[in-house]
Amino acid sequence: MAQAAAGAAVRAVSRHVHVIGAGLAGLSAALDLAAAGRRVTIYEAGPAAGGRCRSYFDKALGARIDNGNHLLLSGNAEAMAYLDRIGARDSMTGPGVAQFPFMDLATGERWTVSPGPGRVPWWVLDRSRRVPGSKLTDYFTLIRMRFGPPDATVAETLGGTGLYDRLLEPLAISALNTPPDQALSKLMWAVVEGSLLKGGAACIPLVPRVGLSESFIDPAIAWLQARGGQMHLSHRVAELETRRNIVMGLRGPEGMVDVPDGDQIVLAVPPWVASGLLPALPTPRDFEAIVNIHYQIEADAGSAGFLGLVGGIAEWIFIKPGIVSITISAANRLLERSPDEIATLVWAEVQRALNLTGAMPPVRVVREKRATFAATAYNEARRPGPRPASFGCPDNLAIAGDWTATGLPATIEGAIKSGRTAAACLMQAPSMAA
Ligand SMILES: Cc1cc2nc3c(=O)[nH]c(=O)nc-3n(C[C@H](O)[C@H](O)[C@H](O)COP(=O)(O)OP(=O)(O)OC[C@H]3O[C@@H](n4cnc5c(N)ncnc54)[C@H](O)[C@@H]3O)c2cc1C
Repeated sequence: MAQAAAGAAVRAVSRHVHVIGAGLAGLSAALDLAAAGRRVTIYEAGPAAGGRCRSYFDKALGARIDNGNHLLLSGNAEAMAYLDRIGARDSMTGPGVAQFPFMDLATGERWTVSPGPGRVPWWVLDRSRRVPGSKLTDYFTLIRMRFGPPDATVAETLGGTGLYDRLLEPLAISALNTPPDQALSKLMWAVVEGSLLKGGAACIPLVPRVGLSESFIDPAIAWLQARGGQMHLSHRVAELETRRNIVMGLRGPEGMVDVPDGDQIVLAVPPWVASGLLPALPTPRDFEAIVNIHYQIEADAGSAGFLGLVGGIAEWIFIKPGIVSITISAANRLLERSPDEIATLVWAEVQRALNLTGAMPPVRVVREKRATFAATAYNEARRPGPRPASFGCPDNLAIAGDWTATGLPATIEGAIKSGRTAAACLMQAPSMAA
């Protein structure tokens, strides 16, 4: 008996979770597990952590840039809690109020959408604060997303009003990264429910003051390391060695990692990697690109630091010291065009929007070809939960990633939520009870 108790104590001390993938989902799982006293080791295939949300030094520009502009809203509760935990909330910046400046490239018209801070949208009663060309009744069309058929698209549900072309369509394309005639309106509803419906106080835009890694990645790693967490970079897991439905080892080019009895796994890799490691796992199959174009030039950031565009190719302009970055979502349609062609087309729009003159400055075009899964009905049905019983998920493993069944589109908020769900699942598993 004394021996058994000692054995149990040893197992409790060595209780260890192996996290595969150091994107936001893996890091968020690791934070919760480490906070609960678990020993955490992260294996990341790339030379740096962060996955699709990271900064890097770009040789062509001689500057550090983000892989793509990322915008958060103050109502993104999971993301805010994550930033608070790692002490990085202050690393985010923005206008400090809900404010979304827009320009129509076709007409030159400019307007700013500024929802008032409260939950009741009094501001829509004031014609001068409405989107130009929209009617009061257009704003009530939003509720259609709540009660429409579960497979209805954004275009079917919201299309046909002045508000759609100049606000809802651009918001849907950026939030869902999918053409609106394919994008599920119920996923757009999830975004609206967590932001606009909570009032302007939940819609304050936030961007990293320095870079994505400085806000989301580096402080998380420091927080984990201070609690004994380990990070192995350039360590790809190519195979899960499984016996009697329990993962016993992680095999890869860097060698074999033993997973002793009682250890657990969080699999937080992109869907195409997850389905390679667990072939029976259902995963989204179609993806959409996001194109970011970074011009090395100074420009006036205005009061918001960004500008939404309609009526052209460019969709959002983000202005940082020395860099003007453009985001184009749902960008599979642009993948056949060369980077030079895209940069030249978009530069003409940027000049008009920011009143810039002169030749095109040094530029880097970043095409994330599989930036997110396409938010379609087909893919939605293929998003697994953290431990999908239907395909015989290994007993000591949980799945995380923005593509799992979070109820949200593929976003920072969804990725962080998925990591927390996977961690909670493992901590509730009987094998985890210390
Ligand atoms: C250009 C762009 C712009 C975006 N803009 C926004 C935005 O404005 N707002 C927003 O909320 N969201 C935005 N997103 C989405 C957001 O970045 C993602 O939802 C989030 O980063 C996904 O995190 P993840 O951990 O689920 O996946 P990933 O970031 O893909 O992490 C998976 C990790 O697993 C690693 N890995 C892969 N295979 C292996 C292996 N075999 N072994 C070990 N490790 C492995 C990968 O290298 C990666 O680090 C944007 C995404 C892109 C690409």
